[in-house]
Amino acid sequence: MAAIDGLTTLVGLVGDPVAHSLSPAMHNAAFEALGMNWRYVAFRVDAAALPVALRGAAALGMAGLNVTVPHKEAAARAVDVLDPLARRVGAVNTIRIRGGRLEGFNTDVPGLLDALVGAGASPAGSTALVLGAGGAGRAAAVALAEAGARQVVIANRTRSRAEAAARAVQQAAAGCLVEVADLTPEAIRRAVRASDVVVHATSASLEAGGSSSPPQAGWQEALAEGLRPGTVVLDMVYRPARTALLRAAEAAGARAVSGLALLVCQGARSFEIWTGRPAPVDAMRRAVGWD
Ligand code: NAP
Repeated sequence: MAAIDGLTTLVGLVGDPVAHSLSPAMHNAAFEALGMNWRYVAFRVDAAALPVALRGAAALGMAGLNVTVPHKEAAARAVDVLDPLARRVGAVNTIRIRGGRLEGFNTDVPGLLDALVGAGASPAGSTALVLGAGGAGRAAAVALAEAGARQVVIANRTRSRAEAAARAVQQAAAGCLVEVADLTPEAIRRAVRASDVVVHATSASLEAGGSSSPPQAGWQEALAEGLRPGTVVLDMVYRPARTALLRAAEAAGARAVSGLALLVCQGARSFEIWTGRPAPVDAMRRAVGWD
């Protein structure tokens, strides 16, 4: 790897927490693969310090940043320019710094589509189920609707949050039929059986199975039991790399897509925004253990 010197270009990650992020290993492997004198560093930043941290990055001449939980929405408000997609989603996960100005992008949305299409999914005309309506679930629902999904069902523990996500999806893609479902075994069983694409975007561990209390208890089992051959299932959770949901998908003959695929696909697009060069995807895959 090129030695750090007076010409090293710095990019990084702001979030809280960041200690377990795979992004530094992934991006530094990419810089090494291309022999670039760049480095990627993770910074834990409090919500109150985010605006000053972003201005500080510009003042230091950094080339860009990734933004992760819980700062993606705040970053969309803090940047100087918003790319149209980031504006529609209301969240920024990538910032390019040029001439001291902060330019906000969202690579979670195209990254999700890259990961799904790479696994053989055809979002156009599909029926999709998104579990979770936080930042990741909302981005997934918007991505699928904008890619031409016929119907998107958003299931979430807190119904009002699913309804807010549904409104955002409807604004982004008026032609898509958007429905909200409860995170109960009955509703999930019904929705998953009708779905061509399933995206799990809650932060509940499916490994823990049965940890929810009524009326949600059992939704994980209903999800696993309802999968059928041909369905494409993406689990945003990537610890462990082969989650209980992905194992259930494989057992049902469905196509299982690891959250590591999404990590690499969104990271590759961030890399290209910062550097203007094609990302060395194989090196990035190896660095995060996506096989
Ligand atoms: P977030 O904004 O905090 O949202 C959390 C979501 O999980 C909400 O829908 C929440 O429901 C739900 N939830 C939390 N605990 C739950 C439980 N016990 N039972 C059922 N639902 C529960 O987080 P996020 O940014 O959307 O991230 C969600 C997940 O995706 C995380 O595991 C994150 O690591 C993962 N992710 C992965 C990638 C990747 O590159 N692979 C990228 C982004 C995110 P309520 O609204 O009811 O609270």
